[in-house]
Amino acid sequence: MPPSVPSDHHAASAVATPDVAPGLRFDNAFLRELPGDPETAPRPRRVDAAWARAAPTPVPAPRLLAHSCEVASELGFTAGQVEAPGFAAVFAGNARLPGMDPYATNYGGHQFGHWAGQLGDGRAITLGEAIVADGERRELQLKGAGLTAFSRTADGRAVLRSSLREFLCSEAMHHLGIPTTRALSLVATGEDVVRDLLYDGHPAPEPGAIVCRVAPSFIRFGHFELPYARGDVDLLRQLAEFCIWRDFPHLLGARAGTPLATLRAQGAFDEALHAAWFAEVCERTARMVAGWMRVGFVHGVLNTDNMSILGLTIDYGPYGWIDDYDPDWTPNTTDAQGRRYRFGWQPKVAHWNLMRLAQALSPLFTDPALLQAGLDRYAAAYAAADRAAIAGKLGLAACGDEDAALMRDLHVLLQAAEVDMTLFFCGLADVEPVPGAPFDALPEALQAAFYDPAKAQAHAPAFAAWLQRWSTRTGEDVRPAEARRARMGRANPRYVLRNYLAQQAIERATAGDEAGIGELLEVLRRPYDDQPGREAFAQRRPAWAKDRAGCSMLSCSS
Ligand code: AMP
Ligand code: MG
Repeated sequence: MPPSVPSDHHAASAVATPDVAPGLRFDNAFLRELPGDPETAPRPRRVDAAWARAAPTPVPAPRLLAHSCEVASELGFTAGQVEAPGFAAVFAGNARLPGMDPYATNYGGHQFGHWAGQLGDGRAITLGEAIVADGERRELQLKGAGLTAFSRTADGRAVLRSSLREFLCSEAMHHLGIPTTRALSLVATGEDVVRDLLYDGHPAPEPGAIVCRVAPSFIRFGHFELPYARGDVDLLRQLAEFCIWRDFPHLLGARAGTPLATLRAQGAFDEALHAAWFAEVCERTARMVAGWMRVGFVHGVLNTDNMSILGLTIDYGPYGWIDDYDPDWTPNTTDAQGRRYRFGWQPKVAHWNLMRLAQALSPLFTDPALLQAGLDRYAAAYAAADRAAIAGKLGLAACGDEDAALMRDLHVLLQAAEVDMTLFFCGLADVEPVPGAPFDALPEALQAAFYDPAKAQAHAPAFAAWLQRWSTRTGEDVRPAEARRARMGRANPRYVLRNYLAQQAIERATAGDEAGIGELLEVLRRPYDDQPGREAFAQRRPAWAKDRAGCSMLSCSS
């Protein structure tokens, strides 16, 4: 039975669609436990509450372009249900499953270092919190589903190119083992959206699309910053307690699962609990950023409203992947001047963002040393995760001070000689270390990583010297070569979502051929495996893509 499409966008009634309803159960705790705005229209406004009602605006022709089979199956959808028209209708916002109760949440944020006031879910609408088989919570959120109270002057929509990039990259990030929000579906809307792609005064229509993203929680640092900035300590406290209760239940120990009101009455939310929570946020953030640095991911817009309280990579916009190693690179043209969010600055930017969070939480603490202790945990957790990444990338049993220096020296060389980060580390796993013996030429396995033959030649002696140090160092680990190679293979992905690969999939999909999305997703599901026949996805960035919009330069236009 086809789902019925509500005729007027705020009357989106709950529509049970037998072909897509897999008995998914919803428990909309954010709505239930936190204060909402009394007004229900999507009129842009100041909201002094945690959320505002927001019904998705139906679209003319929903069509499923791609989905994640793992996420679908975790939510209990069978392959048949995913292919049914009702699935595309629900995840375009045209129909609702029983228990879905859509809303948009309220947050603020520091954008490029400056307080920006209320931002909120301007085009993200949460459909509900699904409870999956293992009892865990999965919030389902449509991005690009239409106007909300937080849309300000924008349209609440998203274009295909940015939705496709979010869909693919969040799945890729998960398969790389780095914490991230996930993506259930990518649905074309059949409706054009007008965007000024290069911000140069040439707005043009582009196909629209909606991603359904999925995470245990979409709470951001900015959710706490906004009530802090407004002096609303009551809302701040409610949000913090709710977040601990729903998203960090392990911190409650034996009391996990107790109703929130009971916990409050018992005085469970003391300063020590808040401190343990903040410290965990710091640690999770550290591990996430260390993951990005290991694989060469540049988020592009690390504003505090784009920082997840669970330490998940969130809000994929003008992100990019490092081709030739360059810590100063950012794909975000909006940030071209100061390059605040350049690759190499991400660890310190995340720390700065955590300081903003600490400030926002300060009214909940009488002892500021507890917040400082959390921030110190960030530094320690980052250092530990970074060391583990270095050991993995270089194939060492553990990383000591000298090994960290070995990696620093390599980074200098990779940048100077314009070397592809991904290809270099994959190639290094195939280099046979000969402790003590000099390397007289660049090993064959590394040659494909160099973009410029002249630079390769000029830096060959420096690489030979570095390889000799590395070779001697690996010889100190008494382990079979196979174990070293396996360790390197788990730390160094072969397949990452190079910017030009995403752009090629976008161009094909825009021309009506969505097969490229599925092909890329298949490759990115096993990023560390050798995938014979898919060598084309693990090559240097082609010369044409070096300075091309969409490949190396992206605006925030999405
Ligand atoms: P972003 O740069 O995507 O992280 O978004 C920053 C803020 O702008 C958030 O509050 C978004 O919800 C809002 N926003 C971005 N694009 C749109 C849009 N097309 N319509 C409404 N709000 C938007
Ligand atoms: Mg954002």
